[in-house]
Amino acid sequence: MKDTDCGELAALRGQLDQVNGRILDLLNERARLVLEVKRVKEQNDIGMFCPGREKQMLDDVVARNRGPFSDDVIRQLFKEIFRASLESMQAAGIEGLRVSRAGGAADVVIDVRGHVIGREPVLIAGPCAIESREQAFEVARHLVARGVGFMRGGAFKPRTSPYSFQGLGDEALRILSEVREETGIVVVSEVTDTRSVDRTAASVDILQVGSRNMANYELLKAVGATGMPVLLKRGFAATIDEYLLAAEYIAQQGNDRIILCERGIRTFARETRYTLDIGAVPILRQSCRLPVVVDVSHASGRRDLVLPLARAAIAAGASGVMVEVHPQPAHALSDSAQQIDFDELDTLLNALGMAG
Ligand code: PEP
Ligand code: MN
Repeated sequence: MKDTDCGELAALRGQLDQVNGRILDLLNERARLVLEVKRVKEQNDIGMFCPGREKQMLDDVVARNRGPFSDDVIRQLFKEIFRASLESMQAAGIEGLRVSRAGGAADVVIDVRGHVIGREPVLIAGPCAIESREQAFEVARHLVARGVGFMRGGAFKPRTSPYSFQGLGDEALRILSEVREETGIVVVSEVTDTRSVDRTAASVDILQVGSRNMANYELLKAVGATGMPVLLKRGFAATIDEYLLAAEYIAQQGNDRIILCERGIRTFARETRYTLDIGAVPILRQSCRLPVVVDVSHASGRRDLVLPLARAAIAAGASGVMVEVHPQPAHALSDSAQQIDFDELDTLLNALGMAG
């Protein structure tokens, strides 16, 4: 007999289809409840993570199990349901962000005096630190001559050792402001604490928040409140979700002119200073509408890797590359091993097809 000719089988299959439908409805009812739980927790400032709750639910379910499924199978099935619920909670978390691309809002394109980040890949180049007026102008003039529109240069340097060169501070801000005035180049500089936000904002075009300050939420709110473009570096031990939430602090101030910057994360690898997480570039682009640039200098700590990593960044979809350039890298007061000289910069521009 063919299975379609057996009436009893057809009836049982009909019942199975109905049960499938009921399970589906119950699963979705459960998912809706989970989102309600999330809402209530958020409103009452209760942490999402609740150790013990999942174990308690599993124990309760297994205690009610009368078979024929074994307790182990029931445990496995419910664990999978809990995992899916948690994922839907997290997905809703990221999708609901202002920086998310889920709502269909347009990609962020940042235009500073006609220099644009978010369309064709750009180079943001310049010394690790502003060391003198001469050094800053030498770099700026070389960059302008080569058609590079963005110059970086640290005024306040977040150094690992308190005995290392800390930057020229306010003097560097004055120099950067003159550089901007006289050459027209767009200037990016890091702000390391809330007290210097206004002074830095008055002297530069783009405020940088460094890797060490990615989770300094008061600083994020303060730079967001300026309404200026912000280049936010990824914390070297931050997950992508943590990074996007840091960007959200800036966006929450009504400022979505944010440039993300992957700059390497800490791993066990010792050949490079950090490990460039190249996968973060397409992952960030998929979930979020902000441009992503890659700092190849701090990621590697090695000038010989700057060019291949820059190529990788552009190939991965980055909107730009940040690179440290110094007239005489050997004499640089900070990050000497990773800064490239003017000839190496010209080679890089040619290789990336960015020569002006
Ligand atoms: C910098 O760009 O000057 C810098 C200190 O980088 P990071 O914050 O990525 O270490
Ligand atoms: Mn540096």
